[in-house]
Amino acid sequence: MKPILRGSCLCGSVTYQVSEPFLSFVHCHCSRCRKATGSAHATNFQVAPRQFSWTSGEEKIVRFDLPEAQSFATTFCSRCGSPLPHLTRSGRSVIVPAGSLDTEPASRPDSHAYWDSRASWSCGEGELPRHSSAAF
Ligand SMILES: [Zn+2]
Ligand SMILES: [Zn+2]
Repeated sequence: MKPILRGSCLCGSVTYQVSEPFLSFVHCHCSRCRKATGSAHATNFQVAPRQFSWTSGEEKIVRFDLPEAQSFATTFCSRCGSPLPHLTRSGRSVIVPAGSLDTEPASRPDSHAYWDSRASWSCGEGELPRHSSAAF
């Protein structure tokens, strides 16, 4: 069994644990991720629901499901506003913002999604494969 990774929001109210391997680990450059993170791109990994559990503060989480989207959602701590993991609407996976991790994962991002939508001021492309749409 892989070691448990731990994560939390900025204020520390909400904490969780998650295990590898990840189903995907992607830098997403879509405009929705830019809005949701306030940054050039989101870096999220996906796991099966059984690999994830909350360890504190679950009641402080606020969820926003984008009405016009098929599945886009964001969740955040109601105290500090930090992005947090969420179960997809299909219930098949949990999407975790990698920046919320407190433990160093063994996994590394495997691709860029929505590369054609990236901001002109985004960081460089590096060595990873680039997809014009979702990579997962
Ligand atoms: Zn917080
Ligand atoms: Zn995105």
